[in-house]
Amino acid sequence: MDEIKLKALQDKYGNATGDVVFDPTFKVVAEKLFKEDGNRTLPYSGIPTFMDLPHMDMERGEDFAGLDIAVVGVPMDLGVTNRPGARFGPRAVRGIERVGPYNHALKIIPDAACKIADVGDVPFRSRFNLEHCIEDIEAHFRKFTEAGARTLAIGGDHSISHPILRAIAAQHGPVALFHIDAHCDTAGETDGAKFHHGGPFRHAILEGLIDPDRSMQIGIRGSAEFLWELSYEAGMTVIHAEEFEERGVPSVVEQARALIGDVPIYVTFDVDGLDPAFAPGTGTPEIGGLTPREAQALLRGLAGLNVIGGDMVEVAPQYDATTNTVQVGAQMAFEILCLMALQFETGD
Ligand code: MN
Ligand code: MN
Repeated sequence: MDEIKLKALQDKYGNATGDVVFDPTFKVVAEKLFKEDGNRTLPYSGIPTFMDLPHMDMERGEDFAGLDIAVVGVPMDLGVTNRPGARFGPRAVRGIERVGPYNHALKIIPDAACKIADVGDVPFRSRFNLEHCIEDIEAHFRKFTEAGARTLAIGGDHSISHPILRAIAAQHGPVALFHIDAHCDTAGETDGAKFHHGGPFRHAILEGLIDPDRSMQIGIRGSAEFLWELSYEAGMTVIHAEEFEERGVPSVVEQARALIGDVPIYVTFDVDGLDPAFAPGTGTPEIGGLTPREAQALLRGLAGLNVIGGDMVEVAPQYDATTNTVQVGAQMAFEILCLMALQFETGD
């Protein structure tokens, strides 16, 4: 290094403490993470909210007017076909300390771009009745969609997506679905239950909540394949894990962007879309899935499109010995949040 350059760096950084950051974007991050005394906020301390977002207390009737994005916990897993436990997902995800606030790939700090709050969990009438829970979820999400806020749901099992889509479609009409999962979740009534986690998108198609011709399901695999005929017949673009491996991220992103265009999109992320090597903590694991890096790249590939809502579901922490599943789940929820927040940054 030449001496003039070295001297300049010494002058600028030689005595600067860690909270002195010069780059304008990084400075905003530093201001969030450093306290006035120059010490960093402890990421593992205090009452947890998702990404340490401000908590807005719906139970106490706190006014959410002006809220751009509501992060909503949906601790409900009455719809599972195999291992239970996703009801513990929202709490576990809120406990993850090191997600955000800055997304280095999308170059955004979501809650600097718009007003976001963790609004707590859906209040359920009953812990026993799946049909009541489905109604309660729709009613709760309508409060936000009708007020013009976008929603990011943290599940819960995948059956929650159907009532959320009802609330969203009531506001926006049929939306495009961008769906990462091992399963298409378009199966019919099973064991006398209509609203289980293997069927939310059957209802979404049949009720006209999503536009199948603009919808994509990615990472599909496993022995439940025979249940997904409605996806094909309705015109969904189904990309199996094997086809994804052959084609790679850029080709799939290009196809998704062409398919979706400027239609509002709902992004739904089932953590079992990832390989169980990365995400074992889930109810219906399927070998042969995506890597977290591929899933991140897929989500980031939607940057700039009109993402009006999303969810991250099926994290069941009790099968997650390393906490890796909840870590990766929280990260994917963050990626979806960034996609939504980008709309405010470019729209203003
Ligand atoms: Mn699913
Ligand atoms: Mn699944």
